[in-house]
Formats: sequence, structure tokens, C-alpha cells
Amino acid sequence: MTYAIEGWFAIEGDAVRLLGARCAACGTVCFPPRRGLCPNPRCAGEDLEVVPLPRRGRVWSYTNACYPPPAPYVAARPYVPVTLAAVELDEVGIVVLGQVKGLTVEELQVGMELELTSGPLADGPLVWMWGRAS
Ligand SMILES: [Zn+2]
Repeated sequence: MTYAIEGWFAIEGDAVRLLGARCAACGTVCFPPRRGLCPNPRCAGEDLEVVPLPRRGRVWSYTNACYPPPAPYVAARPYVPVTLAAVELDEVGIVVLGQVKGLTVEELQVGMELELTSGPLADGPLVWMWGRAS
């Protein structure tokens, strides 16, 4: 199983988790995970630990992509339009963009609850995706 991006998410059984970083000094959480200085401009913390992020959130915005993005993105041939959602994660409030699986753009609404899942990109590697909350 190949991940589209190493270190940004993990799949354990059926559960997909995004991996963020939390500052030990102020508790700020960010995604994607990073090292070094805390992203909070009012904090001088440098101790960031990788933490799994909440698996659910609410739609902040959404759209569909009816034209293939440019390279290096590998589009399916023929291109199949994809739905994209920006989802505000529960508890931490970070907005994370992802492809939507199993829902069309007509079915999405701002504020709708979605749950993290995964699926393959057109060229094979797995990536996190947003799906209907169970
Ligand atoms: Zn901090």
C-alpha cells in the first residue's frame, strides 16, 4: 500500500487519521505536521509532537473540479470530475482540503458533517478523502 504523501496520514484497519503537530508549550495544532518553530506567532515553542487529528469535521466550503489539474497531478483518462471539500476538523478547528468520496457537489452543504476515509488517486497511491459521516 503506497501513500500519496508519507507522514501526513495513517491508515489503521478501517480508520484513517490525519497526522498533525502540537506545540508542547502552547497547545497549537497544525496540519500538515512540521518540525521546528511553533506556527503560533505569539509562541517561541520549538517542541512539536506528531498527533493524530479528529476524524470528523464540518464542511467549510466545497467545489468540484471539472477539468484535470496540471502536472505533476496524474489525472484519470478519460478525466473523471472530482468533488473537493474544505472541512473544519472537530475540536482543533483546522480546515483540511480533500477529495470527497461517494458524494456529489449537489449533495454537499456548508456545515454538513463528514468523516475521514481514504481512496486511491488516479495513478494508484492512497490518500485521505472525505466521506459521508457514519
Ligand atoms: Zn506554541
